[in-house]
Amino acid sequence: MPSSTYVMDYSLTDLEHLFVQLNQPRFRAKQLHDWLHCKHAFSYEEMSNLPKQLREILSEQLPLNKPSVADRQVSSDGTRKYILRLHDGNLVETVGLPSFDSHGEIKRLTVCFSTQVGCAMQCAFCATGKEGFTRNISSWEMLDQIAVVERDFDHRVTNVVAMGQGEPFLNYDETISALRKMNDETRFNIGARHITVSTCGVFSGIDKLSDEPEQFTLAISLHSAIQDIRNALMPKMENQPLRQLKKVLGNYIRKTNRRVTIEYLLIKDINDQEEDLNALISFANGLLCHVNLLPMNSVEGSELQPSDSVTVDHWVQTLNSKGIETTIRQSRGSDISGACGQLKNQWTSDLS
Ligand code: SF4
Repeated sequence: MPSSTYVMDYSLTDLEHLFVQLNQPRFRAKQLHDWLHCKHAFSYEEMSNLPKQLREILSEQLPLNKPSVADRQVSSDGTRKYILRLHDGNLVETVGLPSFDSHGEIKRLTVCFSTQVGCAMQCAFCATGKEGFTRNISSWEMLDQIAVVERDFDHRVTNVVAMGQGEPFLNYDETISALRKMNDETRFNIGARHITVSTCGVFSGIDKLSDEPEQFTLAISLHSAIQDIRNALMPKMENQPLRQLKKVLGNYIRKTNRRVTIEYLLIKDINDQEEDLNALISFANGLLCHVNLLPMNSVEGSELQPSDSVTVDHWVQTLNSKGIETTIRQSRGSDISGACGQLKNQWTSDLS
């Protein structure tokens, strides 16, 4: 039996042992396991094929510790942002981003999930970074975020990005364990290529990811290819310089033969000048990569502003003309602070 009192840590065999102790037939363990891991149940009451008395015993002895939705906001573009209250009271944010077909039906549902409560990276453009780090999130808590969105939309989650609060590679083992469970066909069955992990560029994490057998997608938050500017925007990455980052990415690409996504937030007059563009071209040169340009979203209390559309178009055209495949990632959910860099547990009303 696991030392944990957290029911999600129990394997099927553990549950069978537990049910023997509870004088319950062994098949009940399989039923419970299915509810927990295939049907993503959020309460024992939902487990309709378990006897009521057994459900009561289990909820006393093995609480599910599922998160509750403390707040939910819906954007005019269909994006939904959730503030989840974890079992210990900590709050974490998750965003559901639907894409619709011409009939208005959801064709793709992407979840942007958090890997840490708060974040220690202090990126200058990010609301979360201003809050500081509280704790790591367990793999089950990451899966719960996916389940909350799936249940709320009543639609299968097709894509996930570890791009919410936190630096995933500072919580590497739990993050990779969560990605595997998302990929597991008996759980969420999300294709590995539709699972993206986004990092500030933590070398050790990139190296480790290159040894993982799954074809997860790697995204790097670059935001400047000029060292001084990157240091100012991402102060905690100062000790992981750009020249070495390029080498580490080169090794990753050589080992995995997988394309890396480079995320670049365009901030007016900070990192959107011609020399910034030339530095990005030179950084991307020789790397199997795709550049995602993200016009900056406004963050309360920050003076940083988005680049204008003429600059954004110029960047896309120039990069593409140099053979660097580049797209603009349209911001989603900015009216509910659900867009990149805006997550910071803002409430629709004061619920605390
Ligand atoms: S952008 Fe990501 S890594 Fe940087 S402070 Fe925000 S949450 Fe942390």
